[in-house]
Amino acid sequence: MRLLFMGTGTSHGVPMIGCSCPVCTSKDPRNKRTRSSLLITYQDKNILIDTATELRLQALSFNVAHVDAVLYTHFHADHVFGFDDLRRFNHLQGAAIPVYANAHTIAELKECFAYVFRDGPKGGGKPQIIPRLITSPFDLFGLSIQPIKVYHGEMPILGYRLANVAYVTDCSSISPSEQELLHDLDILILGALRYRPHPTHFNLEQALQLIEEVKPRRAWLTHLAHAFDHAQVEKELPPHVGLAYDGLAIEVPDAT
Ligand SMILES: [Zn+2]
Ligand SMILES: [Zn+2]
Repeated sequence: MRLLFMGTGTSHGVPMIGCSCPVCTSKDPRNKRTRSSLLITYQDKNILIDTATELRLQALSFNVAHVDAVLYTHFHADHVFGFDDLRRFNHLQGAAIPVYANAHTIAELKECFAYVFRDGPKGGGKPQIIPRLITSPFDLFGLSIQPIKVYHGEMPILGYRLANVAYVTDCSSISPSEQELLHDLDILILGALRYRPHPTHFNLEQALQLIEEVKPRRAWLTHLAHAFDHAQVEKELPPHVGLAYDGLAIEVPDAT
């Protein structure tokens, strides 16, 4: 399995429009963050978690030429607004793309992107997707996918465990029973917004606390705001925790 961080930024992206802070004006490419998304390649199938606002630019940067399925965490603009770009992959693949999500996300997709779901001429004008409601663990291309319910403020959203890798972003709390699902991981990818607390996201301290509790072999932090200077934060992290950056690719030995 191969993991590729397509984007690692919070909803504004980094740099933020109109901000002249040291991180937003930094020359370090690791401080340039598009909206968060992860690409998992498993036996030549590409599974994309979220269609971030910059999906087109991310796909061009990292030579992503096919997307075989999409898993959505939740319906917030930064996680879905690349949705329309899926039509380019439809064209390349000659097939509709299955899109997995909870009921709330599917309902919001249908409302926000009503034109996609309306009857009418197909052609190249709009994405062809197959909504798939997630109600329990499922198998995708031979990979076992375990949805993990976490809270983003008051809102229940989904994280995912794919074999021994988990991706949990935009989380501010998790129940003990769902936290159990994060044990024995090779890799945990976890959202950590900034140093200061936030009502709907873990800050750095809370993310490190969860990592301490579930003890993955390696953890990577994502969904990062401009409070984090890459080089500085890396020095502050425990040795088995890293700060992800756009374009970071990780090979994971196969284990299903
Ligand atoms: Zn977000
Ligand atoms: Zn969100």
